[in-house]
Amino acid sequence: MKLFKSIRHNAHNLAENAKKNVDVKKIEFAIKGVKKENTLLYAQIGKLVYTCKKSGKPIVSKEIDDLCAQIDGNRIKVANLENKLTELNVQNKAADEDISFNVEPISKNERDLRLVRTDEGVRFMKFCPNCGGANEPDSDVCASCGYNFKN
Ligand SMILES: [Zn+2]
Repeated sequence: MKLFKSIRHNAHNLAENAKKNVDVKKIEFAIKGVKKENTLLYAQIGKLVYTCKKSGKPIVSKEIDDLCAQIDGNRIKVANLENKLTELNVQNKAADEDISFNVEPISKNERDLRLVRTDEGVRFMKFCPNCGGANEPDSDVCASCGYNFKN
């Protein structure tokens, strides 16, 4: 029962984590967008100055002031987004640690089972208490050192 509770708890954590990872991606994407916008604004200021210099007309400082104000606004946006990102990453790290520690053994045979992340997703593996090798959950002996899990 304890194990099932743990699995449910882990599944809940994983779902939460997946959602947070999506949030992280969204925020990273937003930051990229705002930074790109600022690059274009900087270029606009440059072009404005260049055109004025070339044509001998005075630089219209009002236009440049407006562009600078937009850049400043964007820089605040980026700072706020980066704060949110840091907060989410701290939460994700805490949830990850929770996942690796709250699986409790249910019987002698399953005492070495741990929930692990693999390329195929999250699954149980049996870890050898002798050599630390990872085995299929239903293994009777360790594939690396031959340790008998039924001992
Ligand atoms: Zn082993």
